[in-house]
Amino acid sequence: MTVTLLAPLWAANARIQNAANNAPPLQAGATDKVAVGLLQTALIQTGFPIPAGPTGNFGTQTAAAVRAAETRFGFKLDAGIAGREVLGALDLAMRGWSPPAGAHWGGLLAKTVVPLAQRKVGKAITALQDVRNMLSFGAFDFVTADGVTMVALKTHFKLVAPGGTRAGSEEFITVSTIDPLLGNFRALQRTLANSAMLRHSICTLGLDTAAEAAFGGPVLFGPPYSDFKHDPVAVTNIDTTGVNSLAAMMMHEGIHVIDRPSGDDAIHISEFTAAYETQSATNARHNPSAFATFAAHIDEGQDRPRAQRYGLGAGRPL
Ligand SMILES: [Zn+2]
Repeated sequence: MTVTLLAPLWAANARIQNAANNAPPLQAGATDKVAVGLLQTALIQTGFPIPAGPTGNFGTQTAAAVRAAETRFGFKLDAGIAGREVLGALDLAMRGWSPPAGAHWGGLLAKTVVPLAQRKVGKAITALQDVRNMLSFGAFDFVTADGVTMVALKTHFKLVAPGGTRAGSEEFITVSTIDPLLGNFRALQRTLANSAMLRHSICTLGLDTAAEAAFGGPVLFGPPYSDFKHDPVAVTNIDTTGVNSLAAMMMHEGIHVIDRPSGDDAIHISEFTAAYETQSATNARHNPSAFATFAAHIDEGQDRPRAQRYGLGAGRPL
């Protein structure tokens, strides 16, 4: 899984494609004059002038133009090194995209979404803590327990009241099935509170990836992580999105950061697929979509049809 540049100017050039994956990036002194010339042409075409023109020599003018692009696209400034971030954004720019004014994409937007995601995570923790407290006092009244919490526990984590009927994939609500959920939500809360873990970038999985994270983090937010009201050019496979979808993505990726098995195929089941309904409780305890969707469900206070769950999805209120 890599970044693939698509702009006709340079899509066929292997050195540029490698640079887009930082393998290695292009920088001052680069010897491939053809690749450097393509970078210079791309910079000039997208509004980052190089007075000497596309000479094929990577000197101070080219480094300055790369730094101007880093500034324009909101990336961290470096010595003027053209790697995944700059080349990815230039590729999108040559195909008609321009960064929305203000902080309406990627990690710049993500920072404004953190409070909403944290509100949802906080409500999930409160709901689970209530269940935990009743369990530890040995006085859990499953008849009068919060109905939304009980429905959400069954829907997303396949947990049902002890003594009731349960399907083969479900487990009973106990200290040992609730505590792992609380543990993950608290770790998610800490992750989202650490701004160093939320990065404005281009995702390594490709230009159409909105956000990604591996165990240990950080979360990368790319150009498709956007409220598309401000971004009419399609750079993504996502039709529409809004703050609740953005919060769902953020919570989902945050679980990848803190739960190592969360990316396994049997665990990583989307809330929009039928398989989500029959996932085992054991696997659901690690499913990033289950955490994101449970928190949104608790926050909203009511369930939604599977096709309109709380993350991405056509036709749902944003
Ligand atoms: Zn994922």
